[in-house]
Amino acid sequence: MTRGPRWGAAVLAVALLAGGCTRDDDGPFHPGAADVGDPYVPGAGNGGYDVGHYALKVRYDPADDRLTGEAVLTVTATRALSRFQLDLAGLTVDRVRVDGAPAKHRRDGAELVITPPRGLPAGQRFAVEVTYGGVPEPLPSAELGDGGFHATGDGAIALGQPESASTWYPVNDHPSDKATYDIEVTVPDGLAALSNGVPKGTGSRGGWTTWRWSEASPMASYLSTLVIGDYRVATGTHGGKPIVTAVAAGLPADGPAAASVARTGEIADFLAGRFGPYPFDAYGGIVVADDRIRYALETQSRPVYGPGFFRGAGPNTDVVAHELAHQWFGDSVSVARWSDLWLNEGFATYAEWLWAEHDGRRTVERAFTDRYAVTDWSKPTVDPGRAAMFGDAVYQRGALAVHALRRAVGDDTFFRILRGWLAERRDGTATTADFVAHAERTAGKPLRPLFDAWLVGASAPALP
Ligand SMILES: [Zn+2]
Repeated sequence: MTRGPRWGAAVLAVALLAGGCTRDDDGPFHPGAADVGDPYVPGAGNGGYDVGHYALKVRYDPADDRLTGEAVLTVTATRALSRFQLDLAGLTVDRVRVDGAPAKHRRDGAELVITPPRGLPAGQRFAVEVTYGGVPEPLPSAELGDGGFHATGDGAIALGQPESASTWYPVNDHPSDKATYDIEVTVPDGLAALSNGVPKGTGSRGGWTTWRWSEASPMASYLSTLVIGDYRVATGTHGGKPIVTAVAAGLPADGPAAASVARTGEIADFLAGRFGPYPFDAYGGIVVADDRIRYALETQSRPVYGPGFFRGAGPNTDVVAHELAHQWFGDSVSVARWSDLWLNEGFATYAEWLWAEHDGRRTVERAFTDRYAVTDWSKPTVDPGRAAMFGDAVYQRGALAVHALRRAVGDDTFFRILRGWLAERRDGTATTADFVAHAERTAGKPLRPLFDAWLVGASAPALP
């Protein structure tokens, strides 16, 4: 994510939802946990199962803001389950089936509690079909980026980090459970319906058009998006893969927004030269015109950019470089828990430095020296607390730590560390400890003291 120019400092009111789950006596089967225990997102995600695939069919009518959906989740029980939960904020559930059989269901706040007719043994794969609908709404934690579903008049934007997906489909809403997706979106003729991955065509019937998208690489739920409305959509290929960019029709056709996303392929190629092959089957970018979206988010294979980034005279390629760098750092290799968000943002910020140097503006050394001089070392990069998860310590101090590693091990080893990390962890999740261990293995020397000093030490570290 990149914070927009109008990002405000936020007063945080984390709703501390009741943690644990109620135990019941159900023989060998037990209820799945109500969340994954990530203190940055109380209530998010669930325990006891792993989702492998989401097949989503949603229909949205901007005339009355109503969404109807059918979600089929392919799930594997990771323990014997008597019941389990999905995250679903708002919306009304009409029907739930588990492996084709009607299942009991009830709502508990933003949780959908499902009790299948029979217990699900550990290791069993099963299909969950949820039919639902209603008027979707944003999530209340707007201070962390206006997450969730926004009606826009001509359409809608579903977007947000760390949570947003549960406002438009039932989901295990935490990056520790990545899954593949097929997404079908039906909207009135004339509107675009954009999402992640490879375009699988459109079809019209009775005044409605269905847009089909497929994301075949595992995706964290917060990286899924839905953008509906009046957009200028450009479709082509880049490096043998489809590239789909879209700019809201309300923005100028030849303005900075269009000029910036038009450089997506070029910037992705530059990053591939540093990080290794682009990790997904499609490229793209979407610029929305809604000022409530005060950030850009690295939604998988197709980042979404708020309009505030493109108010200058020329293109803003730095924000494009940042969101595209996340395709490697954050999307392909995702955080297992939000306290390690610097693994996404430190590297994406560093990628901005690399791009600016390549673009002939400011060297990486200069960026490093300038930032070092103004850094508040009292704020930690790892586990900064939820209120500071999008703060400078995560982004800028994180980038300083990345460059400190480069200075300590040299260019050759540094880029081997990055490429090896991305290749080994592709499509997975990881922690800070995983990265430090990988860097030490690749460099063949201890690096823990360096990372400790640059990531969490309370005073300015000595320059390596
Ligand atoms: Zn970012």
